[in-house]
Amino acid sequence: MLNCQEATRLMSESQEHPLPLATAISLRMHLVLCSGCRNFDRQLGVLRQATRAFARGADERARAGRERKADEDEGR
Ligand SMILES: [Zn+2]
Repeated sequence: MLNCQEATRLMSESQEHPLPLATAISLRMHLVLCSGCRNFDRQLGVLRQATRAFARGADERARAGRERKADEDEGR
């Protein structure tokens, strides 16, 4: 049985790449039994979504800035 420290490390790792099947199953079993780690897993998901949304927003702001600059350069 995983302890909470191992479980949180694996949850973070699973954001980078898929876990080996046996490891993923051990993690799932831990999550069924441990509400603290279930919370951490949920928060990790929220954090990932927020980071992606922020990164998308940053892309759009950069593009809008480039378009504004191009318009100014063309004297619009
Ligand atoms: Zn735990």
